[in-house]
Amino acid sequence: TILSLQDSHLLQQLAYVDGQWISADDEATFPVTNPASGTVLARVPRCGSAETQRAIAAAEAAWPAWRARTAKERGQILRRWFDLMNAHAEDLAQLITAEGGKPLAEARGEVTYAASFVEWFAEEGKRAYGETIPTTAPDKRLAVIKQPIGVAAAITPWNFPAAMITRKVAPALAAGCPVVVKPAEQTPLTALALAELADRAGLPAGVFNVVTGDAADAPAIGATLTASPVVRKLSFTGSTEVGRLLMAQSAPTLKKLSLELGGNAPFIVFDDADVDAAVDGLMAAKYRNTGQTCVCANRVLVQEGIYARFAAALADKVAQLRVGNGAEVGVQQGPLIDGAGLAKVEELVADALAKGARVLTGGARLEDAWARDGHFFQPTVLAEVTPAMRLAREEIFGPVAPLFRFASEDEAVRLANATEYGLAAYFYSRDVGRCHRVSEALEYGMVGVNTGLISNEVAPFGGVKQSGLGREGAHYGLEEYLEVKYVCTSIA
Ligand code: ADP
Repeated sequence: TILSLQDSHLLQQLAYVDGQWISADDEATFPVTNPASGTVLARVPRCGSAETQRAIAAAEAAWPAWRARTAKERGQILRRWFDLMNAHAEDLAQLITAEGGKPLAEARGEVTYAASFVEWFAEEGKRAYGETIPTTAPDKRLAVIKQPIGVAAAITPWNFPAAMITRKVAPALAAGCPVVVKPAEQTPLTALALAELADRAGLPAGVFNVVTGDAADAPAIGATLTASPVVRKLSFTGSTEVGRLLMAQSAPTLKKLSLELGGNAPFIVFDDADVDAAVDGLMAAKYRNTGQTCVCANRVLVQEGIYARFAAALADKVAQLRVGNGAEVGVQQGPLIDGAGLAKVEELVADALAKGARVLTGGARLEDAWARDGHFFQPTVLAEVTPAMRLAREEIFGPVAPLFRFASEDEAVRLANATEYGLAAYFYSRDVGRCHRVSEALEYGMVGVNTGLISNEVAPFGGVKQSGLGREGAHYGLEEYLEVKYVCTSIA
């Protein structure tokens, strides 16, 4: 078989609604393919509005009993889900690599990261503290309680097939909210494996639902979720364009929204940086998941005094990256997710070269025979990139590091902030004053200082400006699924 899992029941090819594995009403399915080879891995249902309605109804029916449980009881089920994810980590990693393309070592890392949200929120659900407020009148008592908002919907992308689901679903469930998930069409198999494990962990029917669909089905599923007055909360991770659409669609029912959208992360290297550390940091921040994360460095801004040294050291490292099928031992860079992703990277590089950028390494798609059925681009470094090039404004989502040049700290901050996005930013400097000044001046939701890796379950992940709304992870992530209720009691 194409996928050999230790536990074959983790390869599910049906949607999961109300605790049941279901087909689409018309039995229609679509193929899930391996982006490294084009091989069809499985077929899953093309759900639409009707199946989504059913999932919403199941979640609504499950809500009263789920919210009535104590946070500790909900946490115990989440804890079992966490344990099962760890026990089946290798199978989950195989699924992530097969349908998403990332190297197996990274897929294993993602399983740990995904599970960490379940563990964290299993505990954090117990700390949905309210408060009492000193009264303004002698005969009144003022209190604030936190309550689950209601049925939540989650629409997730393909680049973290497991973690983008658990980062939303774990806090929702911990807070007492049932969830309907619409996973990305490229990576539904990981979502369904998580549903199988959630089922085994003892989540009651209807509390967690997974509605699969192809790209052509996403608008109908999204429209049904956003139009429903039962769905009180929508959490979306994906493109800014689709995020705007979902926000507009959510306006008539005034849903609470969490939106994790596009980024255009600057990675600034000052003259006073430790160059080796900065190169290592950039390797992590740029080439993770073959450049396909929303916090990947998109613009590398290098101060003129160390530009040549930094560029040479970086190009040297990048040229050594091993590209291939992520399932093979030692591969560090996998394929891009699909033909469109590859075409976009090619276009951005062509535009930069036409406007005067220079290739230090890479620069083209892989033409080797083994790579023909996948979507592989060479790990690339471009020098002399300028703000006039499309790379400066658009999210690359591929293994291309464009190096810009700057002279002063002010100029670096100005260039860094010259984008409508504001998700992650990184910089390297050994000057403590500069570290504070620049951290505060960057208009971003997250800043990495002398590090290229910042994500974890205990810290708030999210952006400002057109990178989105809300935060995931940390206690902030729980708040997204809670309503504040003020209770004023007369004791007269
Ligand atoms: P990406 O470029 O990362 O694929 P998208 O925003 O297109 O980003 O996709 C992220 C998620 O949004 C996927 O699950 C996708 O199916 C879904 N999606 C795309 N278009 C819509 C839509 N019109 N309504 C609801 N969901 C959508």
